[in-house]
Amino acid sequence: MSNLVEGKNIVIMGVASERSIAWGVTTSLHKAGANLIFTYRQERSYGKLTKLLDKHNIEAKLIIPCDVASDESITNAFNSIKEKIGVIHGVVHSVAFANREELKGEYANTSREGFLLAHEISAFSLVAVTKAAKELMTEGGSIVTQTYLGSERVIQNYNIMGVAKASLEASVRYLAEDMGKYGIRVNAVSAGPIRTLSAKGVSGFNEKLGVIEKKAPLRRNVDQDQVGDATLFFMSELSRGVTGEVLHVDSGYHIIG
Ligand code: NDP
Repeated sequence: MSNLVEGKNIVIMGVASERSIAWGVTTSLHKAGANLIFTYRQERSYGKLTKLLDKHNIEAKLIIPCDVASDESITNAFNSIKEKIGVIHGVVHSVAFANREELKGEYANTSREGFLLAHEISAFSLVAVTKAAKELMTEGGSIVTQTYLGSERVIQNYNIMGVAKASLEASVRYLAEDMGKYGIRVNAVSAGPIRTLSAKGVSGFNEKLGVIEKKAPLRRNVDQDQVGDATLFFMSELSRGVTGEVLHVDSGYHIIG
């Protein structure tokens, strides 16, 4: 796997800590030879990211802010990438948000504002980022987002985020059709539950981990590295015939009734 994405310029959005799925993706892509560009939202995440990069001896080609709630911020981020890097070959979208108080209890209690916010940050952002990234993907490319089974099935407490993930996965398919003619593929990885900062916001998260250990075919939980390697597959030529796909990296849990 050492040169699967050698020399490719890949943008990673969503490292907030060592536990972030985007950090697992970072280590996989780094080992496979990619040039990495990072975006972050909060200053705190910037601090964590730079420390992690130092600790693991990974050199970032560029680190820039990008708040996907703002069109201007997305435009500025991709303009900076264009100016300082030029052509890009991949984007890893690993970003989501919903109000914590709506990640428990009944979905029926979701507020209008909370519904719109979850969709804006967790689904529309992929659309806006794809549009901006396309301009820099003049040699073709690959865009990968991170989703979860709560889009397909009712998973207790996941609520509005499940509905936003359904929108995200449908967006993957529509964007795959749009982007295909430019040689750009769009796919999603649907990871099993992994303990991260965002996961902590979902009520009863620890119970989900226990269910996987008991019921999933592989009888164990997945980790960030496994999601990272699946994302690497989508970033590399190994997946050149695949677009519009949602690949489950969940120890097979989704096949169990
Ligand atoms: P993290 O909390 O580590 O990462 C979430 C990231 O989203 C953070 O880097 C955060 O940045 C970013 N983010 C939130 N709002 C915005 C915004 N407005 N603009 C830009 N970035 C923003 O959690 P995960 O690694 O778990 O989450 C990454 C993705 O993986 C999400 O899409 C999540 O739904 C998905 N996923 C997670 C699973 C899990 O069990 N953990 C399972 C399946 C999918 P900042 O902190 O700087 O605000």
